[in-house]
Amino acid sequence: MQKLLNYINGELVNPVTGNFFENINPAEGKPYSLVPDSGAADVALATEAATRAFAAWSTTPAKNRSVILLKIAALIERDLDQLALAESTDQGKPVALAKALDIPRAAANIRFYATAILHESAHTHFTDNDAINYTQHTPVGVVGCISPWNLPLYLFTWKIAPALAAGCTVVAKPSEITPMTAYLFSRLCVEAGLPAGVLNIVHGYGAKAGQAIVEHAEIKAISFTGGTATGKIIAATAGPMFKKLSLELGGKNPNIIFADCDFEKAVSTSIQSSFANQGEICLCGSRIFVERSLYQKFIEAFTTQTKALVVGDPLNEKTNLGAIASEAHLNKVLSYIELAKKEGGTIIQGGKQVKLSGRCATGYFIEPTVITGLSHTCRTNQEEIFGPVVTIMPFDTEEEALVYANSTPYGLAATIWTENLKRAHRVAAEVKSGIIWVNCWLFRDLRTPFGGMKQSGVGREGGFEALRFFTDEKNVCVKL
Ligand code: NAD
Repeated sequence: MQKLLNYINGELVNPVTGNFFENINPAEGKPYSLVPDSGAADVALATEAATRAFAAWSTTPAKNRSVILLKIAALIERDLDQLALAESTDQGKPVALAKALDIPRAAANIRFYATAILHESAHTHFTDNDAINYTQHTPVGVVGCISPWNLPLYLFTWKIAPALAAGCTVVAKPSEITPMTAYLFSRLCVEAGLPAGVLNIVHGYGAKAGQAIVEHAEIKAISFTGGTATGKIIAATAGPMFKKLSLELGGKNPNIIFADCDFEKAVSTSIQSSFANQGEICLCGSRIFVERSLYQKFIEAFTTQTKALVVGDPLNEKTNLGAIASEAHLNKVLSYIELAKKEGGTIIQGGKQVKLSGRCATGYFIEPTVITGLSHTCRTNQEEIFGPVVTIMPFDTEEEALVYANSTPYGLAATIWTENLKRAHRVAAEVKSGIIWVNCWLFRDLRTPFGGMKQSGVGREGGFEALRFFTDEKNVCVKL
């Protein structure tokens, strides 16, 4: 079985203990590769390498850092098919989605920051004729980047690219559930000639390898994307050490549909925002609120289109929903469907595990599921399920829609469907979410800030804000 390796000091190496654990292909429910079971000793080696590399990398001219990052982006594009296949095999997502979204976005992340670094500027403030103040940004040092399993290479590079572009050196850990593309990425970094120690990738479990990254005294900043519960643990560890922290956490996003919407567009995009990547995108709209006069018509169209979705082998180009990422997650999603029934919900579409035949006979598949009849306060509508499960509720007024939308502890994303321009702006201003889409979903301009409100996170990624996160900022005041 293929053994993945850590990437430390420019080399692909075994974990210090020599221990590995199995990596499961969720479409088959079977192991297909082995992952380094790294711990504090591996993180220590990675951090030493990153510390040694920092002096040279942080003073490498921006244009030279840019050249090497662009080379890595080009290699990702060269290997698009191989990386998409690996992402699909590792995560369970349709290979067509990996090819269209995950891998191109990973390359785009790197290109964006490789070029952003060439156009950075600093603020200057003239204090009458008395002084000049200028703001200086210097790379913060060795940083830790920890990412989840739902969009593996996409989110891994979304952190690593600004860190490297800003001149930091990095110790990174992908999710233990989806390590394959991070491993392939490390091989591309070797091929591109990234200097030794600039990026180090340590594979392993969160509580062991991840925690060791957060605890390491020489790691000055942590950029984390994952669950809210994990974010709390990381904040509790990193806070007293006064590390810079960026936390991108869970969501329970509202999708608000007014009667004056473009109906066809609202339905077809809501199918995407509910079930893309098996509903395993933090930005999926898992709570759909529909104005009562449109409710019945929406339910009919939405369930008809849901029924037409193909749950199948991720390698089949016609598949809409592939496998759930892990057996534990499959059981979690199924338990929420049971909870919804106990809470009085009606499953109007789906609701069951899917048993496929052939190579996928023991894989983890769930029908896209639509639930009605629940209150906005029940657990099903308050807790993140992170699977192909949506609830639909009617509302009577704009005020009521806002109460429903803002009723969870989360505040990551929201979608609003209306042709009324004033209402669109009014509601967008009132919804407590870090990103709001009006008449679209998942449309991203990488220059815009990204991040959650409430328990969905702290800090902003994207644009120049992410470059700034990886720097220390100071004001220099020169008396004239
Ligand atoms: P998770 O929190 O279980 O794991 C995320 C990463 O943290 C993994 O690499 C894991 O190994 C590591 N980790 C776990 N415990 C750790 C610890 N004590 N110290 C350091 N690292 C630790 O999340 P997941 O299940 O992989 O991902 C799903 C979650 O991620 C969902 O809640 C989803 O909403 C969220 N998510 C958020 C965003 C966003 O941008 N806000 C994007 C994608 C996913």
